[in-house]
Amino acid sequence: MCVFGKIFIRLICINVANDDCDHGNPMMQFSQQRLSGPFVARVPRYTSYPPANHFNKKIDGGTQAKWLSKVRPGEPISLYLHIPFCKRLCWFCACRTQGTKSLEPLQSYVDILCRELDLIAEHLPKAPMLSRLNLGGGTPTILPADLMAKLLNKVFSIFKAGSDFEFSAEIDPTDATESVLRTLADFGMNRASIGVQDFEPEVQTAIGREQSYEQTNRVVELLKKFAIDRVNMDLVYGLPHQTMVSLQRTLSKVATLDPDRLAVYGYARVPWMSKRQIMIDETALPDSQERFELFHATRDFLIDQGFLSVGIDHFSKPHDSLAQAVQKGKLRRNFQGYTDDVSRVLIGAGASSISQFPQGYVQNHSTTSTYINSVEQSNLAGARGHALSDEDMLISRMIENLMCNFALNASEISKDFPERGSDIKTVMNRLSQHFPAACSYENGHLEIHPSERFMTRVIAHQLDTYPTSAGSHAI
Ligand code: SF4
Repeated sequence: MCVFGKIFIRLICINVANDDCDHGNPMMQFSQQRLSGPFVARVPRYTSYPPANHFNKKIDGGTQAKWLSKVRPGEPISLYLHIPFCKRLCWFCACRTQGTKSLEPLQSYVDILCRELDLIAEHLPKAPMLSRLNLGGGTPTILPADLMAKLLNKVFSIFKAGSDFEFSAEIDPTDATESVLRTLADFGMNRASIGVQDFEPEVQTAIGREQSYEQTNRVVELLKKFAIDRVNMDLVYGLPHQTMVSLQRTLSKVATLDPDRLAVYGYARVPWMSKRQIMIDETALPDSQERFELFHATRDFLIDQGFLSVGIDHFSKPHDSLAQAVQKGKLRRNFQGYTDDVSRVLIGAGASSISQFPQGYVQNHSTTSTYINSVEQSNLAGARGHALSDEDMLISRMIENLMCNFALNASEISKDFPERGSDIKTVMNRLSQHFPAACSYENGHLEIHPSERFMTRVIAHQLDTYPTSAGSHAI
């Protein structure tokens, strides 16, 4: 069956009472859907389409080599390096990472990461051009300065920074030393991403993550000293003991740190993926209604502070490149969330990293030991992934447009999918009919109303033709 046939069936499922349909109670009133939208619905976050839980083992290092070799000379590349180690393991966090207090695993891992970069380079054109470099984890700042320098020397011995090069790293204020921040600055780091989550002591104790305002402010001051002047911060709503009043205190403190960009994520309760989450007392968690209110209070506070809303969960100051990408209709979404990066090629290195090519996705071995074994044997570490069909590409484009612009424009999408023009319009029309209070459709243009944008993931999910199994996604 063609993709549009599947979409039509999915849309019909919502309208008629059909006990076989697995997409929720079709008789649910829209007012109930409002509250059950992104706050309880287990739908993907759509940082890729299809989502990573649909990757398969037909894709491996061989496919990765083939797709790397198709990268054109001079084509901008976005490089992500994953450092899966932390000094502490916060209970709320579902990142794939492991705790360590010793240097030895970090040294071996950096050696392997350098070796993997060499293996990747063997398949790329000479002097590949970097548009973005992002260090994430885990905690990249767990690396001492000399190991960080070793890794970055390897990166820049292979890649050349392009003209609009942006280099960002995730910073843990509780362990980032002045020397590692100086090293990052020396190599051209120009954006920092700082995890805050919540400043309230009661909340921090309940999520196993203590981090004072003073520690965070120290890092912000050091970044200024090293002329790293673009600062992102992450906040989380829906944490235990969080209330409207306590969240207001956190937000007021965050405002004094003057970030350019904020990501406001809902606490994702996925104990089947991250066992340490069972340490969190479920009875202290806000309910769906409270999560809804916490997010909207945060949004209102940030808009009052001069931030612009970006996508479903980001906020940025008007001068920030993400806000400018929104104004120009150039906002994109990839595995790192919202971005203004226009690269078609994102290479992920390190255990569990995902690469994105025009042809599809490749994910490295997820466990650090398997990843290390693969690279030690001089094999690329790709272990699973997905080759995009034409239909995947079309749906991916429509979902990305909804997640970034809250709109679909049939004539624009049809330029890249000329044979699908009338199908695209029909699907858009159906989508608006099934979310009449949230969407309007006219003359080939579908729009999600500003007050209903929190429903975007749920609306996008109706275009998704892959089954969503219960429990596979975070709330
Ligand atoms: S929140 Fe950061 S420091 Fe804490 S476990 Fe997750 S990645 Fe590690």
